[in-house]
Amino acid sequence: LTLGAAAGCTDDDGATDSAGGGNTRAGTGGGKVGVILPDTKSSQRWGTDDPKLLKAAFDAADVPVDIQNAQGDKVKFGQIADGMIASGVKVLITVNLDSGTGKTVLNKAKAAGVKTIDYDRLTLNGGADYYVSFDNVAVGKLQGEGLVKCLAAKKAELPLVADLNGSPTDNNASEFKSGYDAVLQEKYDDGSYLKGPDQSVADWDNDEAGTVFKEMWEQTNEQIDGVLAANDGLANAAIEILKKDKRNGDIPVTGQDATVQGLQNILAGDQCMTVYKRIKLEADAAAELAIKLYKGQKPVVEGRGVKDPESGSYVPAKLLPPTAIDKTNVNLVIKDGFAEKKAVCAGRF
Ligand code: BGC
Repeated sequence: LTLGAAAGCTDDDGATDSAGGGNTRAGTGGGKVGVILPDTKSSQRWGTDDPKLLKAAFDAADVPVDIQNAQGDKVKFGQIADGMIASGVKVLITVNLDSGTGKTVLNKAKAAGVKTIDYDRLTLNGGADYYVSFDNVAVGKLQGEGLVKCLAAKKAELPLVADLNGSPTDNNASEFKSGYDAVLQEKYDDGSYLKGPDQSVADWDNDEAGTVFKEMWEQTNEQIDGVLAANDGLANAAIEILKKDKRNGDIPVTGQDATVQGLQNILAGDQCMTVYKRIKLEADAAAELAIKLYKGQKPVVEGRGVKDPESGSYVPAKLLPPTAIDKTNVNLVIKDGFAEKKAVCAGRF
């Protein structure tokens, strides 16, 4: 099996690809559903996948939606929300940039009678009406298990493992970490792995991740044997540093989001795995809830929900299962229509 073949890069019959591209419907938001996404830099998804799939879900139901992106700016996040609330959105779906500013927005929305949905990231102490996400501890567990598998394949002895964690202000980052830490701790405890540097990357900033990893690499005299990187962007930052010393490919690096870049890094042998989250299912679930709320119905969500670790109260929630992707099953993401074959295979023919 060649790596390119794993993505079907060598044949041309091919999976059908869906077009990318952010779709933000401009407008005042009156009587609509408002969606505020966080940025376009911390992961491919927020500028491309989520807006496209959310828009498709609302369009299919003929429910008007106003999708905007805060571009990593907390002030702008608040301003977009103020504008949407003033214009009379009935439902507000938000991905917070941190829980504090996210909570301010949720409170204003609630005061104006707007229903609220936390999308992907739980706003701590925010009291949203609903939460839609993936099982984020399970995401982290897949990352930990993926790294263990790749280190075993490399026959690494007593590997030194470094953690490049997501933003400390993103509750998901803590959940990913608790998932992978549980897997790795067993290895530290039984003496088969060595714990190396462990650092968070503010705002999931990819440039910052490069700086952080470079420091780790130098401080350990280039002795790191495996990198638990919390998403594909952080992974790529580490891979770029490893490339400078021609050590890419020797040292397994994990990821998340099944981005085009992540999948390419996997096919090149530079990245060990990624976690594919079927964002279409997440977008559809959030849209389904929002559409019911928009129509004045009360959605019923199974189970007691997710416990907000700060407030201690439960938020009605829908959590979806993640899937691990490595060089053997890249094709799954393409077949699913999430990644375009021609983008992933670019330069591999
Ligand atoms: C999301 C990830 C994403 C990260 C950076 C997290 O909250 O769950 O999919 O990679 O934020 O944007």
